[in-house]
Amino acid sequence: AILVGKRVRSRRKWRRVVGVLRDLEEACETSVGRLRQVVDAMAVEMHAGLASEGGSKLKMLLTFVDKLPNGSERGKYYALDLGGTNFRVLQIQLGGKTSSILSCDVERQPIPQDLMTSTSEDLFDFIASSLKQFVEREAQNSEFSPVKRRELGFTFSFPVKQTSVSSGILIKWTKRFSVKDMVGKDVSECLQHAMTRNGLDMRVAVLVNDTVGTLALGHYNDPDTVAAVIIGTGTNACYLERTDAIIKCQGLLTTSGGMVVNMEWGNFWSSHLPRTSYDIDLDGDSPNPNDQGFEKMISGMYLGDIVRRVILRMSQESDIFGPVSSRLSMPFILSTPSMADMHADESPELMEVARILKEDLQIPDVPLKVRKLVVKVCDVVTRRAARLAAAGIVGILKKIGRDGSGGVASGRSRGSDGKMRRTVVAMDGSLYTRYTMFKEYLHEALCEILGEEVAQYVILKVTEDGSGIGAALLAASHSSHSSSSSS
Ligand code: BGC
Ligand code: MG
Repeated sequence: AILVGKRVRSRRKWRRVVGVLRDLEEACETSVGRLRQVVDAMAVEMHAGLASEGGSKLKMLLTFVDKLPNGSERGKYYALDLGGTNFRVLQIQLGGKTSSILSCDVERQPIPQDLMTSTSEDLFDFIASSLKQFVEREAQNSEFSPVKRRELGFTFSFPVKQTSVSSGILIKWTKRFSVKDMVGKDVSECLQHAMTRNGLDMRVAVLVNDTVGTLALGHYNDPDTVAAVIIGTGTNACYLERTDAIIKCQGLLTTSGGMVVNMEWGNFWSSHLPRTSYDIDLDGDSPNPNDQGFEKMISGMYLGDIVRRVILRMSQESDIFGPVSSRLSMPFILSTPSMADMHADESPELMEVARILKEDLQIPDVPLKVRKLVVKVCDVVTRRAARLAAAGIVGILKKIGRDGSGGVASGRSRGSDGKMRRTVVAMDGSLYTRYTMFKEYLHEALCEILGEEVAQYVILKVTEDGSGIGAALLAASHSSHSSSSSS
């Protein structure tokens, strides 16, 4: 009788846990119909954000980048990339037509955690002194001393209201950063002052978002590139827009007919997004509630934490994970790379899942069927993220008439010769480049939404290090030295 009672209780608690999973699956539902609603909402919000300042949660920020590098750039340029987990400095040597990138030296280092929440002086002094060391080391190794002032492309991957191609004001922080006295300040000026304090003579030639750097490198490699998407710690996209479509500053923009727009799509919101109670809790606990809603469902900073919250709920509903581990209540204790490793575990006993549950969450010795359940949770959360990102991409294609809507025969999807045009989107960020299942789900959804026929002309191209190299390329094409001069 005792045994039977135990079995009934165990069946009942298992049923409760499966209920948690079913609820999650239902709330994360991303049928192609729903994704199409997200596509439409994205395109509508893009229009609204371009129509007036504050017209949408999508800021659709001007970049003042009206020409993308084309391969004719020459000379030596520097770039500084700040915005993710690492901070990078690099130097490239450009050879002009045909010879392209001659050399590229990169140095990458993690940003000390405390600097992400300190003062702008501390943060920028650290950056400027690292940059100075890099420049000095590199000068020792080169045969000639530079005669001209060094030109720098500064990639700063946060929402910035640009005042020119080389200056702009920080609107707000995202991701893990929160240097309060920076908000509202000119980002280039902060760097320029820090460089002066550190005795470094360099000019910020361009201030760009990482997506813009990625678009620049993508376009340099393949002129059919029209947009760039980053899905890493945070997520965002930029694309090339016609100047006359940027209603909110018509008259102001007189140049070449096109400009790169930084969408800041991380802040996109729509009632069509499949939202769960875990998302609501995560948002409420975050330092920026009601902000970056799309980012919080998609990017690497958050996915692991959504999974943690689901496991916590399951653990509270029953004892299948043993006594509730106090670790499960610690925000961000389960990182997205760990989550990806669990998801990718193909060993029959799911030993990697067991290891991570034990080491990261202090949940030892759970049976195989519980480990399988954890993998399923990772799958649901990642699949939703990847499919939403795909819908976002199609939203951009729709806005620029490259989604083949009305069939492959119509719109700007076709060139003047009547042939379907290639549309290339430059992609970067660790979720896309290092999380296989994420990438596969994204591609699958893209095909579902666009249909096979159109999807074959849409090419997502991994464009790594664009946020660094692309910024240096843009520094070259916007340099005060003429682009045909060599240094
Ligand atoms: C920032 C964007 C950035 C993206 C990817 C987001 O949190 O707001 O400016 O492009 O992360 O790094
Ligand atoms: Mg980056």
